[in-house]
Amino acid sequence: MTLIAELRALVGAPQVLTEGDLTAWELDWRRRWRGKALAVVRPGSTAEVAAVVRACAAHGTAIVPQGGNTGLVGGGVPDASGRQVLLSLQRLNRLRAIDAANLTLTAEAGCVLQALQEAARQQGLLLPLSLAAEGSCTLGGNLATNAGGTQVLRWGNARELCLGLEVVTASGEVWQSLTGLRKDNTGYDLRDLFVGSEGTLGIITAATMKLAPLPAATATALAACETLDGALALLARARRRLGAGLTGFEVMNRFSLELVARHFPALPRPLAPAPWTVLLEHSDTEGEEQARARFEALLGEALEAGEIADAAVAESLAQSKALWQLRESIPLAQAEEGQNIKHDISLPVSAIPEFVAATDAALDRRWPGVRLVDFGHLGDGNLHYNVQAPAGADGAAFLAEQEHAVNEIVYDAVAARGGSFSAEHGVGALKREELALRKSPVALAMMRAIKAALDPQGLFNPGRML
Ligand code: FAD
Ligand code: ZN
Repeated sequence: MTLIAELRALVGAPQVLTEGDLTAWELDWRRRWRGKALAVVRPGSTAEVAAVVRACAAHGTAIVPQGGNTGLVGGGVPDASGRQVLLSLQRLNRLRAIDAANLTLTAEAGCVLQALQEAARQQGLLLPLSLAAEGSCTLGGNLATNAGGTQVLRWGNARELCLGLEVVTASGEVWQSLTGLRKDNTGYDLRDLFVGSEGTLGIITAATMKLAPLPAATATALAACETLDGALALLARARRRLGAGLTGFEVMNRFSLELVARHFPALPRPLAPAPWTVLLEHSDTEGEEQARARFEALLGEALEAGEIADAAVAESLAQSKALWQLRESIPLAQAEEGQNIKHDISLPVSAIPEFVAATDAALDRRWPGVRLVDFGHLGDGNLHYNVQAPAGADGAAFLAEQEHAVNEIVYDAVAARGGSFSAEHGVGALKREELALRKSPVALAMMRAIKAALDPQGLFNPGRML
C-alpha cells in the first residue's frame, strides 16, 4: 500500500490532504518559507499520531510537526521537496484536566494558548504564558519552541511552566509522563530534552502545565525614557518596589511605535513620542486601587529621579488592553511595512544600552539611514532588534542582499557581550548555519549524539536546527 493510502486508513481520508489550497500549512507566518508537503495529515488522538509516525517510519518518510504555524524561524513548514509529511496537531485540542488544588492544567498539544488561559481564568487561575500570537499558537508549539513572551521575568519560559509531557517517539511509542509533580529526581530529565527541541526529537501530544492563583488586580503603565540607561534604572526600581508583583517590563523604540501609528492609527498614544517607551505591568494580591497607588508612587519616584520623562497609568481594563495592544501590534505593523531582517537576541540586561548604541552606530556606518525596529522584553534581556532598509529602499531586496552582512555585525556584537543569537524563537531553518558556526563544538557533538539516539532514522524535522 502507498503511504498516503495507509495514512488515509489510519486517520480517515478527510484528514489526509494532498490537493487543493494547502497554503495555511505550507507557508509560514512571515511568508518567507513556502514548502510543498507530500500530504497534510491531521490525526485526532495520540494513538493516531503514534500510528502515523510508525507508518512514516516504515516508509522512511520525514515528518514536520506543526501547531498554529506562528513560528518565526521557518521550523514548522515542510521543505520544497514534496516528500515530507506535514503533521498538524490542531485536532488534538482537548483540555484533559485542571487540578485546582495542585495548580496544574493538562491539555493536548493542539490547544490554542488563549483557550487554555481562558479555561484557567474561569477557575480563578492563571496560566502565566503570554505572547502576541496567543490567539493562534498552540501548547505543543509553545513547548517545542520553549516560548518566552511577556511574563518571563516573573514566571519563566514555557520550560519553567511545564511539569509533564506526553510524547510520541520516533519508533512510534508513546511516552506518558503527565505528572503534576514539582519534584521528581528519577534520572535524566527527558522532559526538558523535548522542551525546545523544535520537533526534531519527538512529537509532543499533551502536557501538564503549572498554574498560579489569578492576581486580584493588575495595573499597566507607559513610561517615556530619554535613554535605555533610564529604562534600566526604572527596571531596578520596579524590582525593588514591587518584587514578584512586577509581571511585565517591555521596551519599544521610537521607530517601532511610529510603525504602529502608521498601520494602526486608531490605537491611542497616551504619551508623546520618546526615544524609548517602557510598558510596565504590576500584578497585585490586594485590589485595583492598591495596585494603582503603588504603581503611581513608583513612577512618581522615577520621574523625580530623572529616570523617566513622563508616564501614564491605565485607568481601566480597556485602557490597559489598549496599552498592551500598542506593544503587541509591533510585529504586525512590521509585517504590513514589508520585509525586514529580524533578530531575537538576549544579553545580560546590564550590557544592553552599550550594545544598542554600538550596534546602531555600526549598522548606520555601513548602511546610512538604516532603521531599527527595536523592541522587546527588556526585563529579561531579550530584544527583537530588527533591521529595516533605509526609507525609500526596497525592503525585500535589502533582506535578500544584505541579510548575511547585517547578521554578522549584529551576532558578532551579541557574542562579544556574552549574548545569544536566539533568545526565544528558536533555530528552525533560519538560524541553522548560525548554530553550526557559533555553538561550541562540544555542545554540537552532544546535540548530534542525542538526535542520533532518539531519532536514528532522522525522520523528525530534518534540516531544522542541526
Ligand atoms: P508552530 O509554528 O506550528 O511550530 C513551531 C515549531 O515547533 C516548529 O519547529 C514545529 O515543527 C514545532 N512543533 C509544533 N508543534 C509541535 C508538537 N506538538 N510537537 C513537536 N514539535 C512541534 N515567540 C516567543 O517565544 N515569544 C513571543 O513573544 C512571541 N511573539 C510572537 C508574536 C507573533 C505576532 C508571532 C506571529 C509569533 C510570536 N512568537 C513568539 C513565535 C511563536 O508564536 C511561538 O514560537 C509559538 O510558541 C509557536 O507555536 P505554534 O503552535 O504556532 O508552533
Ligand atoms: Zn518576543
